[in-house]
Amino acid sequence: MAILKAVRGTRDLLPPETALWNRVEATARAVFARYGFGEIRTPIFETTELFARGVGEETDIVSKEMYTWEDRGRADSDKGQSLTLRPENTAGVVRAYIEHKLADTGMLQKLFYIGPQFRRERPQRGRYRQFWQIGAELGIKGWRLALNSVGSSTDRPRYVAALREALAPVKHLMCEDNQRRAETNPLRVLDSKDPNDQEIINGLPKIADYLDDESKAHFEQVKAALDACGVAYTVEPRLVRGLDYYTRTTFEFTVPDGSGLGTQNALLGGGRYDGLSEMLGGPKAPGIGFAIGEDRLILTLQAQAEAAAETKLDVFIAPMGVERNAEALRLAQELRRAGLSVEVGDGTFRLKKSFEAADKLARRMVILGEDELASGILTVKDFAAGEQSKVPRNELAEALRR
Ligand code: AMP
Repeated sequence: MAILKAVRGTRDLLPPETALWNRVEATARAVFARYGFGEIRTPIFETTELFARGVGEETDIVSKEMYTWEDRGRADSDKGQSLTLRPENTAGVVRAYIEHKLADTGMLQKLFYIGPQFRRERPQRGRYRQFWQIGAELGIKGWRLALNSVGSSTDRPRYVAALREALAPVKHLMCEDNQRRAETNPLRVLDSKDPNDQEIINGLPKIADYLDDESKAHFEQVKAALDACGVAYTVEPRLVRGLDYYTRTTFEFTVPDGSGLGTQNALLGGGRYDGLSEMLGGPKAPGIGFAIGEDRLILTLQAQAEAAAETKLDVFIAPMGVERNAEALRLAQELRRAGLSVEVGDGTFRLKKSFEAADKLARRMVILGEDELASGILTVKDFAAGEQSKVPRNELAEALRR
C-alpha cells in the first residue's frame, strides 16, 4: 500500500525541535507582555472577500497563493460562500476589531497573534505552504532592517500615476503578470522577482520623490525614533512589501547568508495600514503591525546555535530489576511533583545499558537497586560532570535541582 505523507509544503514538527518552538513562543509572549500587547486568536479561515478587499486582488498572495474553496451551505439559513485559509493575519485582526467594535473602547489596541498561515507557494527551505507567524523581539544576530515609506492615500495616487506612465512604453517587454499589473495596480510591479524585469523596475520612478510634506515629515520622525533607539536601518526605495493595505512606513528584517535560510532570508515584515479598517467597512483606525516568520526564526536560531534547546530531562531513574519498577515509578512521581522532569528506565536493563539510555535522555541518572532501597541512600550519576555521588532519598529533589 502507498505510504501517506504530509502534504507538500507542510511538515510535522517533532521533539526535540518542538521544544525550541515552545521556547520561541514563550519568549514572544513574554516580550509582548512587557510591551502591553494582548493575544488575539482569529479563525484560520475567513471569507475570501476579506483578503480580496484587505490584501488586494492583484497581489501575488490573493491572485495565486490562496487556498480557496466554495463552502456548501448545509441548511437554508446557511448559504454557500467562498472561504479561504488565511494567508496572513492582519486582515482577520482588523475584521475582528471592526466586528467587536474595539474602536468604541477609545483605547489604543495592542494585539498579537501566533498561528499558522497558508500560501500556495513553491516550497523550499524557509518557504512553506503552512507556516507560522508571530511578532516579537528576539536575539537574532546580524539582522538588517530595510525601511521605506510608501506614502499615504493622498500622495500615493500621484506616484501610482507616475509609475503607470513610466511603465506604459516598456511594459510590453515585461512578463505577463507585470504587463497586467502595469495597468491594474502598478505598485505591485515593484514586488516582482522576475529576473528579466529587474532592469526596467530599477529604472522606475522612486516613491521618495512623490511623498507630500506630511508623509515626508512622518518618515523623518520614524527615522529619528530609530536613530534615538540606536537601531540601524537602510532606506530601500523599492520596498513596497506585496500587500495593498500598507501606507507610509514599510519595513523588513533580513538575516545574512549562512543564517540557515538560504534565499528566503526575510525574517520579518510589516508596516502601517492606516486605511485598512475603512477598506473593510470599519471606522478610521490607523494601525501598524509586523509578522515574524516563526519557521524562519527557528531555522535561524538553529543555524546560529544560539538557542540550542535544552531538551535533556533532569533525571533518569534506573530500576535494577523489574521488582524495583513500582518503587521507581513512585520516586518519579515524587520528583515530578517537586518540579523535575523525569524518565523511568526499564527494569530489565543491565547497568551499562541503563547508563547509555540515561545519557541520551537526561543530565543525571539515579540508580535504584536493592542496596539503595535498603539504605535510603541513592547513587546519582551526573553525566556532564562525570561524577557519581551518594544522596539521601529525602534530599534527592533538592540535590537534583542544583
Ligand atoms: P508577509 O506576511 O508576506 O509580510 O511576511 C512576513 C514574514 O512571514 C516574512 O518575512 C517571512 O519571514 C514569513 N513568511 C511569509 N511567507 C512564508 C512562507 N511561505 N513560509 C515561511 N515563512 C513565510
